[in-house]
Amino acid sequence: MTLLSSLPPEIVRFVVDVLRLCLWLMLLIALFVPLERLFAQRPSKFLRPQIGNDLAYYFLSSLLPAALMSVPLAVLATVVQKVLPAGFHDSVQGLPLWLTIFAGLIVADIGSYWGHRLSHEIGFLWRFHAIHHSAEHIDFLVNGRAHPIDMVVTRMSGLLPLYILGLGSAGPAGSMLPVAITLIGTFMGFFLHANVRLRFGPLEWLVATPAFHHWHHSRTDHIDHNYAATFPWIDRMFGTLYLPAHFPADYGIQTPMPATLIGQLLSPMESPTVVQPRK
Ligand SMILES: [Zn+2]
Ligand SMILES: [Zn+2]
Repeated sequence: MTLLSSLPPEIVRFVVDVLRLCLWLMLLIALFVPLERLFAQRPSKFLRPQIGNDLAYYFLSSLLPAALMSVPLAVLATVVQKVLPAGFHDSVQGLPLWLTIFAGLIVADIGSYWGHRLSHEIGFLWRFHAIHHSAEHIDFLVNGRAHPIDMVVTRMSGLLPLYILGLGSAGPAGSMLPVAITLIGTFMGFFLHANVRLRFGPLEWLVATPAFHHWHHSRTDHIDHNYAATFPWIDRMFGTLYLPAHFPADYGIQTPMPATLIGQLLSPMESPTVVQPRK
C-alpha cells in the first residue's frame, strides 16, 4: 500500500489495468478452453503457433486503443453536445435503458460494419487489418490479434455514430452506453473467434456466431463477407452475408506475414506484400 501510494498515479493506474486484464484473461481461459476442448471445430492445442504473439496482442489491444481514443472521444462528445439541440439529449435520456442499449448496439454495429469493410477495401487500412487475418489457428484469443491502429479504426467506427446521435454523452444512460456497447462487443469478439463447432439454428441469422465469423477468416473465399460484429442481418442488408451449413477448410491470408510481434507491428509500414488487391 505504501509502495503503491508513493508511485505516480499514472503508474498505479497502469498496474491496476494490467492486473484487471490478467484477471479477465483467467476468466476467459476458464470459460473458453473447456468449451473449445468439448466442442472443437478443428483439433487444436492452447499452446499453438503464434500463442505468444496473441497473448501479447491481448494486452496491447486492450490497453493502447483506450489510451489513443480517450482524447478524440472527449473532443467529439463535447462538440456533439454543443451542436445537437438540447431537446434531442432530453428525448434520448427519456428512453428506457434497454431500448437505448438495443438501439445503440444496432447503430454501433452498422458503424463498425463499414469501418471493417473499408479496412478490407482500402489498401492502406488493409495493411493494418491483415495482421488479424493472418491467424491460421482460430480460437478465442485471436479476437485481440490486431494492430493498435486497426483496433482504433474498428472501435472508432462503432462509437462514432453513437456519439453523433448523442448516445455517447446524453446524461447517465448516454454516458454508460459506450461502455456497455464496448463490453458486449468485446465479449462477442471472443465468442465469435472461439474454436467451437456449435450451431444455433435460425438464431444464427439474428445474432453473430462462430460459424458466421469463421467464414470471414477463410483463406481463399468469403473473406469479403460477414463484416458485422453482432448482427448478421446487417451483412444481409448490404449484400455480404455468407452462412452455409459447414465451416471453412482453412484460415489465414495468401500473402506472407512476419512471424515476430515486432515484425507484424511494423509490417504495415514496410511490406507492400501484405496488401490485399483492391476491389
Ligand atoms: Zn476482416
Ligand atoms: Zn476476426
